Amino acid sequence: MGRSYDVIVAGSGVAGLSAALTAAEAGANVALLERAPREERGGNTRYTESFWRMQSKNEVSEDFADALAGNAAGWHDPEITKDWIRTPEDWPAILRASPGLDPELIGAWADGAPDALAWLESHGLSFDFLPNYFITESTTRMSPVGGGRAIVEALATKAEAMADRIDYRFETTAESLLRRRDGGIEGLIVKPIGGEREALRAPNVVLATGGFQGNAEMMTRYIGPAAQWTRPIARGGYYNRGEGVVMGLSAGAAPGGDFGSFHAQPVDPRSGEAEPVVLIYTYGVLLNREGRRFTDEAPATVDATYETTARDILQQSQGLAWCILDGAVEDIPNWQKAIRTDQPAFEADTLDGLLAQLDIDAGQAAETIATFNNACPVDGRFDPLRPDGLATSGVSPRRSHWARPLTQGPFRAWPIIAATCFTFGGLKIDASARVLDHDGQPIPGLYAAGETSGVYFRTYTGSTSVMRGAVFGRAAGAHAAHRNS
Ligand SMILES: Cc1cc2nc3c(=O)[nH]c(=O)nc-3n(C[C@H](O)[C@H](O)[C@H](O)COP(=O)(O)OP(=O)(O)OC[C@H]3O[C@@H](n4cnc5c(N)ncnc54)[C@H](O)[C@@H]3O)c2cc1C
Repeated sequence: MGRSYDVIVAGSGVAGLSAALTAAEAGANVALLERAPREERGGNTRYTESFWRMQSKNEVSEDFADALAGNAAGWHDPEITKDWIRTPEDWPAILRASPGLDPELIGAWADGAPDALAWLESHGLSFDFLPNYFITESTTRMSPVGGGRAIVEALATKAEAMADRIDYRFETTAESLLRRRDGGIEGLIVKPIGGEREALRAPNVVLATGGFQGNAEMMTRYIGPAAQWTRPIARGGYYNRGEGVVMGLSAGAAPGGDFGSFHAQPVDPRSGEAEPVVLIYTYGVLLNREGRRFTDEAPATVDATYETTARDILQQSQGLAWCILDGAVEDIPNWQKAIRTDQPAFEADTLDGLLAQLDIDAGQAAETIATFNNACPVDGRFDPLRPDGLATSGVSPRRSHWARPLTQGPFRAWPIIAATCFTFGGLKIDASARVLDHDGQPIPGLYAAGETSGVYFRTYTGSTSVMRGAVFGRAAGAHAAHRNS
């Protein structure tokens, strides 16, 4: 008979820490399990600047609900979603168990964000409008001073200070759920690294182990063979090996979110920094290794389009593209802020001199750039700070904004791959973060929060994932603390 708790929380990123502390603050005895060593606790959360899609501390951004609803499924079936007008308790099972993001969850997310932010501030964090790496933007964002690392350290320190209520274990991996005969949760088997398995008992388990971006087999199984060319965007993602998602699915959870996709970001593969993004390509061209353009580099503001571009890069040979710019980049104020790699650009006075340094078909690349240059408009005002409509004509793919011929030195180039920030596929949850089964019923005592839950499709609605972890982690902790059998 293993040790008993009221709530077991697997994972201590923002979702797990929010769940564990909220449950403990409500009086529950909690086990909190973290696979990483103490100094690396916090998963992805540790490495993010943690932007929140908010217009003030009290309100989410104006476009919050519309943006999430616009990316809530591949194509909704109106025959199924017509029942959304009924109260959620009256939704039929096939709607409750559908993988799409539903209006109840969007509402709970929006309503819970100001409370979650205030709760974090009560734990010593301070939110403000801080600088980011986008030259053009489509929404409003706030973030905590010190980023995700400050969230992790504040909450983890508090969890350690509550040792009478929270048994916080590092280098301990959550492996499998213990179930009762009636399907309810009985506990969790854990495995300390190098130690022996142990059965922890509790009627409630919160799965908050992140996504499966650190698991090459799952990445290939769900994303496809191109997964070999992507990698986690920061060290924290390597710890997220998908056990939470697998445990939930094995327990009968309905899948949520798009299992075939992930939040992609364009980064310099040479860099080992966290999030070494290169987001300046909207003013130059992107060429694959064959020397050809393959996408509209600038369909709209960079913050709203970089993910699609990164996914297009993943589909090129070796999942790689070259961003090429000319000396006119100096017309863009503070252009360096869009480049986070610690590796220098390839540079030359002439285009031929630059192309000769790259792993690219240089002859084809020169021809592609000449064709692009001829397709750029001769009139029109270049405005780097907003989509300016300077579009190409007569070239495919078309370029929608900031199209200017690349003619003056110095010419610069950066390699770009698509890094995986986090995976989209996870467990279907309700507004209390209860995991739902294939009949849309809560699996008694099972909760999921953060990346382990599945909500995203198409394009990630930027700056919502840390909020999601905090909001639904808190919801899970609060619900589980008051549920005792
Ligand atoms: C560089 C970077 C920048 C980002 N920028 C933003 C941003 O600005 N805004 C935004 O909203 N989002 C951003 N994101 C995404 C966001 O940070 C994450 O999606 C979010 O923090 C995930 O929180 P989580 O608690 O679900 O997972 P994580 O923070 O990844 O935590 C999961 C934890 O579970 C542990 N774990 C895994 N498996 C097990 C197991 N079997 N047993 C025990 N423990 C386990 C891991 O070690 C980890 O500590 C960014 C991410 C990165 C990496």
